[in-house]
Amino acid sequence: MSMSSEEMISTCLEHTMFSWAASGTVSPLPIARAQGVYLYTPEGQKILDFNSQLMSVNVGHSHPKIVEAIKQAADGLIYVYPGAATEARARLSKRLAQLCPGDIDCFFFTLGGAESNENAIKAARLYTGRPKILSSYRSYHGATNACMQLTGDPRRIHNEPGGPGYVHVMPPWPYDYSFGADEDQITANHLRYLDEVIMYEGPDQIAAMFVETVVGTNGILPPPRGWMQGLRALLDKHGILLVCDEVMCGWGRTGKLFAVEHYGVVPDILTMAKGLTSSTVPLGAMGVRRAIADHFREHVFWGGLTYNAHAFACSIALAAVDVLVDEGMVDNAAKLEPVMRSEMDRLRDKHPSVRGGRCIGLFGMIDIQRNAAGDSIAPYDGTHPAMQRLAAFFRDEGLFTFVRWGSFMCNPPLCITEAQLREGFEIIDRGLDITDEAFE
Ligand code: PLP
Repeated sequence: MSMSSEEMISTCLEHTMFSWAASGTVSPLPIARAQGVYLYTPEGQKILDFNSQLMSVNVGHSHPKIVEAIKQAADGLIYVYPGAATEARARLSKRLAQLCPGDIDCFFFTLGGAESNENAIKAARLYTGRPKILSSYRSYHGATNACMQLTGDPRRIHNEPGGPGYVHVMPPWPYDYSFGADEDQITANHLRYLDEVIMYEGPDQIAAMFVETVVGTNGILPPPRGWMQGLRALLDKHGILLVCDEVMCGWGRTGKLFAVEHYGVVPDILTMAKGLTSSTVPLGAMGVRRAIADHFREHVFWGGLTYNAHAFACSIALAAVDVLVDEGMVDNAAKLEPVMRSEMDRLRDKHPSVRGGRCIGLFGMIDIQRNAAGDSIAPYDGTHPAMQRLAAFFRDEGLFTFVRWGSFMCNPPLCITEAQLREGFEIIDRGLDITDEAFE
């Protein structure tokens, strides 16, 4: 017999640890099944998934073609060691080589986002022979040890001290001050600042700079105009590799297959996970340009885990990529961007507690403000009772999203319809009365 919500919750709390939380304080959402854009509790409550779980179920839950592919793959080759050649690995890498930007045509298959970044750190150091890695304070790159060092946001602090060689820089959009009065000025000033940091760190000591092409959990922030192109040129000048972390913003989330396509830039290394399989099975990848791939034909790539290039996962990823691309979900994300933006603008105009919202494709965030000045989008205390009540309201009314710090996410599966999208914003609209009441 299936478990009730109560039984599921109490057993999970008793016998498992939860990530990013003290288990004694969490109250996990009980989910029995999921289909399309909806989750269902054991008692049958229907919940609109407005965050694609971890911005990862891009094609929606339990897509029938992927379920079928899983059944078929289970009848075929499930696992062999990563030194073997398999048809699933061959087909997936060939497909990715067609889809990835520029000459990124060679892939190291991992178990997820963090491991892809771990391997990108390793590849950059081995390729350049340089020790240091640059990244941005306003970033998240994963929770393994090296990725926690790469990460700039305060989650890093609890994992310190880490290893040497990680240098953080202010991003072009810091929290509380500006690099300039408009985007062009911000880009120019920030790149000058970065050039100076590189000079002081020693250009010939820096292997790579990691960026989230569009910053994800730290604010859904596309870079200012001209910045990616300027960054590419600056790093080229110093022989530093550009690594674009598209674990979250890749695979259609921003309305293009990869976010770098918005900026016409080809990174040296592109890391991915999440949407690669739409979270049906764990798989990530590090994609590298031909020159780096050629280097590792001659030189050992010192790394590998038991489950790299997992045959079963590779065949499911191929099915997930086919569904995403063939069913026009990337275009759907681009088509619905103006709908999401107009809903966000409407809520900003109606609710004094809303500072504003941003989105690119179906990658969105709404910022709550506490006072009429609304002069900062710095994260304020997410434990504020109004934010907690807002989170509880969403949950009770059947909307799944993350309310964190002073913001919440709007990242539905890319298969969502316009009507379902508006259904989500209708719940949000009602919930914001709570934060309006608490508006100081
Ligand atoms: N990079 C970015 C930009 C992410 O958003 C995440 C996860 O949210 C990661 C890396 C880590 O991915 P994973 O949790 O699959 O290891």
